[in-house]
Amino acid sequence: MSSLLRSTRSTVNILSNIPRRSMSSSPAMSAPVDVKRLGVVGAGQMGLGIALVAAQKAQVPVTLVDSSQPSLDKGLKFADKLLEKDVSKSRISQVEADQARQLLEPTTSMFDLSNADFIIEAVPEIPSLKASIFSELAKIAPSHAILATNTSSISITKIAASTTPEGNTTDLSAASRVVSTHFMNPVPIQKGVEIISGLQTSQSTLDTAIEFCKRMGKIPSQSADSPGFLANRILMPYINEAIICLETGVGKKEDIDNIMKNGTNVPMGPLQLADFIGIDTCLAIMEVLHGETGDGKYRPAVLLRKYVDAGWLGKKSGKGFYDY
Ligand code: NAD
Repeated sequence: MSSLLRSTRSTVNILSNIPRRSMSSSPAMSAPVDVKRLGVVGAGQMGLGIALVAAQKAQVPVTLVDSSQPSLDKGLKFADKLLEKDVSKSRISQVEADQARQLLEPTTSMFDLSNADFIIEAVPEIPSLKASIFSELAKIAPSHAILATNTSSISITKIAASTTPEGNTTDLSAASRVVSTHFMNPVPIQKGVEIISGLQTSQSTLDTAIEFCKRMGKIPSQSADSPGFLANRILMPYINEAIICLETGVGKKEDIDNIMKNGTNVPMGPLQLADFIGIDTCLAIMEVLHGETGDGKYRPAVLLRKYVDAGWLGKKSGKGFYDY
């Protein structure tokens, strides 16, 4: 018993010796970064929304990078539509809309991020893709720039580790600047942003992320770097269960959505919500939850995988549980 107490005490001492956020050795990292230019990688539904809200609320120029020119064109067309709607509903003036639009600077080259102070990655939820983007960002971005990810479920510690030079786990100069700013969909409407630190994240990185999200008019909440964090750890098994109910005939799609909408006062049912999120994104998140925890309760529904195989990805592909 006494040896157990002794070992418990020494564990506490070891833990209390770990500084709260001490990973950066760079003096430039001790103060929060003054964000004068944002970079966004990925101009899909999340990246475009983040870029537009940053231009409107934080009023910073935004370098918007996408590897696909058609995706950039589609994103900017959508930004024009959103701004037109805001003007027509008198939420903003035409001058404000024009100002925000001019702040969006589209490009297909990652090298244009070399003067960004804060970069948010919003490419598809594929671990190897995120890793290659962060490895590139560590080389291209200025040495003070915060490197944020919009991942829905992938470990921030793992993403941060992809910035360290091969085999050098002690060089945390880039890894300490990695953090998650998990915006919710649709970004112009949802106020919440989930902020997650990896093991390597410095306190000034965390402070800068929280401060910048506030400048964007958002309400940050913090969660631990655990699979799915908070939002998707709770939301995705709910959506997955609705899909299992559909595949096992417990209810028709309209009944599943109607009972949740009319019975729990949510704005849309789980199947329609899956269509809006992207069915491929839902599968990717369930795979991370299942793979990282090994817990059978997170097994992706067979029908979820089939929809992805069919290319029925929801609203963005024109067909999901409903037609668009
Ligand atoms: P999306 O498919 O709509 O957009 C992804 C964009 O990334 C596309 O425009 C694609 O062309 C671009 N892209 C792909 N590879 C690239 C590369 N190498 N370099 C630059 N651009 C590249 O996806 P999304 O729904 O916007 O999701 C993006 C991220 O946000 C994912 O990690 C997702 O899990 C997360 N997220 C999504 C939602 C949601 O409801 N959809 C909510 C919160 C978080």
